[in-house]
Amino acid sequence: MGMRPKIGLEVHAQLLTDSKMFCGCSTRFGETANSQCCPVCSGVPGTLPVANRKAVELVIRTGLALGCEVAERCRFARKNYFYPDMPKNYQISQYEEPLTYDGRIDVDVDGDTHRIRIRRVHLEEDTGKNFHLPDGTSLVEYNRAGTPLMEIVTEPDFSSAEQVRAYLTSLREIVRYIGVASGNMEEGAMRCEPTVNIVDDETGERTECVEIKNLASIRGVYEAVKYEVRRQRRAVEDGEPIRQETRRWSEEKQETQLMRTKESAGDYMYFPDPDLLPMVPAAEWDIDKIRQSLPELPDALRARFMNDYGLPEYDAGVLTASKAMADYFEEVVGLCNDAKAASNWVMGDLSRMLNSAGLGIEASPVSPAGIAELLGLVQAGKITGKIAKDVFETMFETGQAAATIVESGGLEVVGGEDELGPIIDQVIAENAAAVADYREGKKKAKGALVGGVMKLTKGQADPQQVNRLIDEKLLS
Ligand code: ZN
Ligand code: MN
Repeated sequence: MGMRPKIGLEVHAQLLTDSKMFCGCSTRFGETANSQCCPVCSGVPGTLPVANRKAVELVIRTGLALGCEVAERCRFARKNYFYPDMPKNYQISQYEEPLTYDGRIDVDVDGDTHRIRIRRVHLEEDTGKNFHLPDGTSLVEYNRAGTPLMEIVTEPDFSSAEQVRAYLTSLREIVRYIGVASGNMEEGAMRCEPTVNIVDDETGERTECVEIKNLASIRGVYEAVKYEVRRQRRAVEDGEPIRQETRRWSEEKQETQLMRTKESAGDYMYFPDPDLLPMVPAAEWDIDKIRQSLPELPDALRARFMNDYGLPEYDAGVLTASKAMADYFEEVVGLCNDAKAASNWVMGDLSRMLNSAGLGIEASPVSPAGIAELLGLVQAGKITGKIAKDVFETMFETGQAAATIVESGGLEVVGGEDELGPIIDQVIAENAAAVADYREGKKKAKGALVGGVMKLTKGQADPQQVNRLIDEKLLS
């Protein structure tokens, strides 16, 4: 059966503003219930909304990063429906005139690049939150009501759950890079609703669109889309109809379940909000200035890391996972001039220590200059790579500089013939069997000799030098 999945995606992301969309209330997360609301965001009749300038700017910023056009003129609309978490009985959103439109994200899946068109990025307000208690009562919390929210809507351009996952990963990375949203799905700061149906391109046969809600992670979205495609395929095979409906994802049962038959745009009776003036972004905001203030985006950064520093694709991917990590890496390279070594340290020892300490790279106790100094000691042959790892751990734990730790611990390389010579002689004398084997051409026997020297020097000898000196003594 040649039915192909056709998937579209709506993403809502809370914007990183200090105050709400249409009033001055704080957006801080986790405060006492209903302590951050006022007559405007709790919908008291007769109050008037005033748009948050910063929120508008952050949506323009996002639109530009996604290659969108910025509208010359746009308006807020009322989306009418009743639900206890929305005391006005309408949500202020944008309908026919979004702030930005016509963008794209290119996703790579299994070596193929797919262009996902972005229909619009618009601005709206978040709703409050209902809590349903076990005893049957419900509570309403308005702290979140009126939080600035942007909605990013794609065309139905995805044909697999893998593409959806790649898109979300990329989108979340971009909003974090440009500093407009936290993208934390676990906190509800980013929420996605995929719409799934399957179509037969030849016959035009298609199922109705099904929207899935209640997804709390990118993994959840991926599993839900996969499940829903399977469910619809099976229904078509069995000759059962797929209705247009909204389904929820059950994390527990790993299945989508019917929530309600889907409402359509007409049900919301959208109309322009008469309390808010139309906006003219180009005249009011300096669009070019916002464009120029955008940082290099992750894809471009990855390409540059591979081209300019000759890094493998894997390294470039890991190092650009966050802007903070990419910046940290570039600072180290700028100071030490050895990109691969810098990459190994940042991806390896530094990341390992940060993970076990539960710290982000922004809070690293070792600065880029500190790592560069340590690398310099290795490059100059002052300490061995193995000792450097121990020094690094001490730097991380105590905040001391590499040179200080090396000096006070007497950790410099034991080197030169006069220092190493007698030690090697001792090892040769104590390992007659290995010496004989090595002289007979058993290369492996050398390991015991090098190991013996490293043990006596507490790992402070340069292994290459030790190797060379052993050969000089035994093979010449
Ligand atoms: Zn308020
Ligand atoms: Mn919305």
